[in-house]
Amino acid sequence: MEFINSLPTWLLTTYFFIFGLAVGSFCNVCIYRLPREESIVFPSSYCVACQNPIAWRDNVPLLGYLTLLGKCRNCSSRISIIYPIVELITGILLAGVYLKFGLSWETMIFSIVVPTLVVITIIDWKHQIIPDVITLPGILFGFAAGSYMNGLLPSLIGFIIGGGLFYLIAVFSGGKGMGGGDIKYMAAVGALLAWKNTLLIIFSGSLLGTIYGLPLILLGKKGRKSKVPFGPFLAGATLIAIFSGDQIIWLYLNSMT
Ligand SMILES: [Zn+2]
Repeated sequence: MEFINSLPTWLLTTYFFIFGLAVGSFCNVCIYRLPREESIVFPSSYCVACQNPIAWRDNVPLLGYLTLLGKCRNCSSRISIIYPIVELITGILLAGVYLKFGLSWETMIFSIVVPTLVVITIIDWKHQIIPDVITLPGILFGFAAGSYMNGLLPSLIGFIIGGGLFYLIAVFSGGKGMGGGDIKYMAAVGALLAWKNTLLIIFSGSLLGTIYGLPLILLGKKGRKSKVPFGPFLAGATLIAIFSGDQIIWLYLNSMT
C-alpha cells in the first residue's frame, strides 16, 4: 500500500482508465448476454452475426474495434459502435472514481457499482428491463457496502424510501408508470447510498427523464402514454449522486437557511 501510494496520480489514473476499458469489455458481454439469459462466462467472446469466436487480439478494448474498422474479421458484418463507446465510457468513469475517492474502500465499491450502472443503462434502453440477476444481488451488495459507508440505519431507510416510493407509484399507476425492475433498482441504490442521495436520485432522475421526454411529446414523436425506459435516467442520476451528491445536498440544505 505504501508503494502504491507513492505512485504519481497521473499514473494511477491511467491505470484505472485502462482497467476500466477492460471492465467495459466485460460490460459488453453482460449487456449482450444477460437479457438473453446466457452465461456471461462461457463461451468466450464470439461474433453475434457468424458465431465465430473472436481472437484475443481483436478483443482488446477499443483497439480491437479500431484495427477491425468496426467489422468482423471473419464475416465482415458491422460491429455496433455501442461496444467501443461502452468501453471508453467505463474507462473514463473508473478513472473518475479513482480521482474522486483515491485508493480506498469507496473506490473498490464504486469500481463495481459504476460499470453495473453502464450495463443497466444499455440493457434497459434496448430491452426495457433491468434484470433480476443484477438488482437482487445488488440489494445485498447495497446493504453490505451502504452500511459500511453510511451506517446500517441510513442504509435501511434508503432501501425503504427507494423501493417503497417506487412501489407506491407502481401501485397507483396500475403498473403502467413503473416496472418491477425500477423498484428493485431503487431499493438497491437506496441501500447503497442512503436516503438523502435516494431522494436526490429520484428527483434528478425524473428531471432528466422529463428533459428527454418532453420535447418528444411536444413534437408528437411519442405519446404521453408511450413507454420510455426510466433506468437510463435513474442510472445517470445515480452517477451524479456518486460523484457530487454530497455537494448538491449540502448546497440545497444551505440554500434553505
Ligand atoms: Zn462475424
